[in-house]
Amino acid sequence: MQGSTDYQMAKRAVVRQVSQGAISVRDVCDAHPELLRAARNIGTPSDRQCPICELADRRARVATDRSSSLRLVTYVFGRDLRRRSGTPVWTREELDDLASDHDSFTAYTVECCLVCGWNHLHESVLMGQAHKP
Ligand SMILES: [Zn+2]
Repeated sequence: MQGSTDYQMAKRAVVRQVSQGAISVRDVCDAHPELLRAARNIGTPSDRQCPICELADRRARVATDRSSSLRLVTYVFGRDLRRRSGTPVWTREELDDLASDHDSFTAYTVECCLVCGWNHLHESVLMGQAHKP
């Protein structure tokens, strides 16, 4: 998608460093209480597993839990949004409404694990009337 950035590469690099012991799990599973709360209450369940839980399951040789603990939360940032900037959006419809009401802002989607607190930027998308295709 135009104006969108995927953070898969960066995320994979972090997970690799954790599996190699270069970064501690504590450093990547440090979700802020606000983010955890948002993930629990308004997060969209992800169809993927948390990479850190998966790593731990593999190390412990236990079967990976099929139900994903990973949630996606989208935050919007932009001057156009005024006080709405920096807050999470609850639904896709709300995001679409913001996009039709504002000229330009960025939607950052963060993935957050409810079990271990892993959190990482998932993608960012430029939205608003100025970026309509
Ligand atoms: Zn996890």
